Amino acid sequence: MEMVLSEKVLVLNRSWVAINVSTVRRALTLVFQNSARIVSPSDYSTYDFEAWVEATQAAKEGKRIRSANFSVAVPEVIVLTAFNGRFTKEVKFSRRNIFERDGNLCQYCGKKFDRGELTLDHVVPRSRGGSGTWENIVLACLDCNIRKGDKLPQEAHMRLLRKPVKPAWATRVGVKIGRQRKQSWERFLEEAYWDVELKE
Ligand SMILES: [Zn+2]
Repeated sequence: MEMVLSEKVLVLNRSWVAINVSTVRRALTLVFQNSARIVSPSDYSTYDFEAWVEATQAAKEGKRIRSANFSVAVPEVIVLTAFNGRFTKEVKFSRRNIFERDGNLCQYCGKKFDRGELTLDHVVPRSRGGSGTWENIVLACLDCNIRKGDKLPQEAHMRLLRKPVKPAWATRVGVKIGRQRKQSWERFLEEAYWDVELKE
């Protein structure tokens, strides 16, 4: 039992971003406090402890937590429910990160440019009260920037490639996984997962 409780668990924040590696002991405490739910890595369904016991008590394979009253699969991934995690590193609102988010693509014509040929465009122009935020700053090539001028995209008959949002990937850098990495964590850490558009 002791050894099992020291097993590693991947902790996801409310946005399903991996933020920490903890232990089964700590993970179960969070689940008992209703601060987290256990995640089934195969289909992303989440469970409170009771439901987890129900779902896994019949299975025999894999590591188990056994007590007098129950035998249950060892959780490998949990998702926080109560707050977004004090381990979360905020993605820095920087030029570099905006270029990274937009992939050096002009967000109006969709073409790829060298850094020097791209500018930061306020979707809602500053003269109209537009702010310097993730949601209002996009990369634009010089042509598109001039064409858009002080207009809103729809006024200039231009469309954004996609709605600009604050990226979630900065937290990825904050997680040190190392050698303790488990197979079941892969899909929460792999590149494709980070490209999934998160709902605000
Ligand atoms: Zn352009």
